This record gives sequence, C-alpha cells and structure tokens, in this order.
Amino acid sequence: KVIVEDLFDKLLVDAKSLSQGKHLIEANCSLKMAILGSDSELLSAFGNLIVNAIRYTPEGGKIIFEWKSDQDGGGVFFVKDSGIGIASEHIPRITERFYRVDRSRSRDTGGTGLGLAIVKHVASRHNAVLKIESELAVGSDFSIHFPKDRLVELN
Ligand code: ATP
Ligand code: MG
Repeated sequence: KVIVEDLFDKLLVDAKSLSQGKHLIEANCSLKMAILGSDSELLSAFGNLIVNAIRYTPEGGKIIFEWKSDQDGGGVFFVKDSGIGIASEHIPRITERFYRVDRSRSRDTGGTGLGLAIVKHVASRHNAVLKIESELAVGSDFSIHFPKDRLVELN
C-alpha cells in the first residue's frame, strides 16, 4: 500500500522543479489514508495529471492538487489548473493514445499524447474512474475516484 501523504511530498517536489517558480502550486492532503497498489504506478498516474496541469497553464497560473473523500466513502485525487482549458468536443478523445488537441501549437510543448492513456489505464487497474471537466481559457479539473475497497484508513 502507498501512503498518500508520502506520495504528495514527492509530487510537490517534482511539480515545483518542473514549474521553476512560474506557477503558484498548492498541495492539500488532509486525510490520513493509503491506497492499495504500487508506488510507481500511482506516482505516474498522479504525476501525469500534474505535469499536464503545469504544461498547459501559462506562467503566473495556479495549480492545486488534493486528496479528499468522495460522497460514497471512496477517495479522490483532484487536480485543478487555471490553464488553457480543453474545448468540449475534444474531451472525450484526450485519453486516447497519441491524441493531442492542437498538434501545431502543442508541438512546442513537446508531449507524445500518452500521458492520459497511462492515467486511464492505472485508474482502471484500481477500479477507479477518471473524470474531466474543463472550460476553454479558464482551466481544467481532472480527478481520479477510487472506490472505498481500494483504500486503507490510517491513524
Ligand atoms: P505526454 O503526456 O505523452 O507527454 P501530452 O501531454 O500531449 O503528452 P496527454 O497527457 O495524454 O498527452 O494529454 C493529451 C492532450 O490533452 C494534450 O496534448 C492536451 O492537448 C490536452 N490536455 C491534457 N491535460 C490538459 C490540461 N490540464 N489543460 C489543457 N489541455 C490538456
Ligand atoms: Mg501529458
């Protein structure tokens, strides 16, 4: 099992080094919980969402990532950015392998279009669900909803 607070420490260090002070980055992990699964797998899923939030948010923007409880007793990893956003017609396709919204413009942001496919794959291995909400030029919310039976409460 993976302690969410430990994961968050690593994610925040990586996020800050990637952003190099260009964004306001906030991490909140109030619940003491662990997720069943491997460290590397969860780091890559959560990390990919955070890397996207940084990559698709202009300088001066804000990125928040949180761990919180779901209404049904599960747990949610949530990332919010104040970036470029995603037009609604693209949202259903962005988790496909190699799909990128604006190929010409995203060339200089240098991805391959695999990040979200990995996130979705890891989520499905945990019976977790990836949710995406976004508004163009306002920002995006990505969240991974873990069912209760994948979590361990810590004291
Ligand atoms: P890779 O993750 O492989 O380096 P990538 O970031 O292009 O490359 P994905 O992470 O799969 O690939 O994302 C697919 C596309 O979805 C991106 O190219 C981008 O167009 C869009 N996207 C993803 N996250 C965000 C976000 N937070 N804000 C705006 N657009 C996003
Ligand atoms: Mg990516």
